[in-house]
Amino acid sequence: MSALVQGDTIGIVGGGQLGRMLAMAAARLGFDTVVIDPDPACPAGQVANTVIGASYDDATALAQLAERAAVITYEFENVPVAPLRQVAARCPVFPPPDALEVSQDRVTEKAFFNAVGVGTAAWRAIDREEELGHALLELGGDCILKTRRFGYDGKGQASLREGAPYDGVWDNLGGVPAILEKRVRFQREISIIGARGPDGAIALYDPAENVHGNGILRTSSVPATLPPAVADEARALGRVILERLSYVGVIGIEFFVTDDDRLLVNEMAPRVHNSGHWTEAACAVSQFEQHVRAIAGLPLGDTVRHSDCVMHNLIGTEAESAFDLLTEPNLVLHLYGKAESRDGRKMGHFTRLRPRPA
Ligand code: AMP
Repeated sequence: MSALVQGDTIGIVGGGQLGRMLAMAAARLGFDTVVIDPDPACPAGQVANTVIGASYDDATALAQLAERAAVITYEFENVPVAPLRQVAARCPVFPPPDALEVSQDRVTEKAFFNAVGVGTAAWRAIDREEELGHALLELGGDCILKTRRFGYDGKGQASLREGAPYDGVWDNLGGVPAILEKRVRFQREISIIGARGPDGAIALYDPAENVHGNGILRTSSVPATLPPAVADEARALGRVILERLSYVGVIGIEFFVTDDDRLLVNEMAPRVHNSGHWTEAACAVSQFEQHVRAIAGLPLGDTVRHSDCVMHNLIGTEAESAFDLLTEPNLVLHLYGKAESRDGRKMGHFTRLRPRPA
């Protein structure tokens, strides 16, 4: 693929806050953006050059996008793969639809990690309710049952305690194919944001330490509290995953750090990631610009952070008083332009910067 030139158009499937921040980064590099989203007033639609109001699998809309765009990307992992593959015949789609497909199914994803030597929680695929009892015995201890597909922010999950009854759990999750995972005893959760260009160049940011509440990311802190060898290991695993997927673009990979300092990967997101929002404030090149650079075939940016930081999500009504934060020095606020705040809805985030110790 030849690199994009100034004035080229980037197509973005999905118009949420991630699409918005991608469109803003694309604009800074002189690119136009066209967004597909069912809601023309979506957060990305407010800043993109054009919005196509259509569903993500609308073949006509995707054909229109391919007509105008030099490259197509997406901002969430539940975009249907088949129409993207079709459109990829006419216009490059990055990250590659194959990587998207792996990430859409927790069983395929875990099988991929294990096949490339990346450790995960012990797991079993559960296609039918009858398989649950045996799998629980095999894994032993406490487990989590998750739907194979379409889970996010802790949705589509149920905890199963050793010896406790599990009647109805399968039905409550919708009676759909699932994965049973052994509950990991972890000291902390971290993630790594990495990027790979079409030429195989790789850049990785420092790991972030993430705290979740009700399944939703609350804060990401950098540096993470980690022995340097574990941070290096996270980077090494990120590199393996990027290479083995022949990846192009930014990826977010979430890990558990076990009590004995081992890393087990939880999941990957083939896109820019909420736990990488800190890069916008603490690095010269944010994950959003990095993604644009990667999919445009431009040189990847330096991932060094100039400050330590903590990124806080603003969820639901928390964003209402966001302007009160503006008096605080070294704080970067970012709001997503969502008119309506609902419970659990991500409305914005802010990052507090601290100079790095000399
Ligand atoms: P997920 O939707 O897979 O990202 O899970 C959401 C959150 O649930 C994770 O960030 C963890 O806090 C927790 N979780 C998920 N899977 C496991 C596991 N196997 N062991 C322990 N905690 C888990």
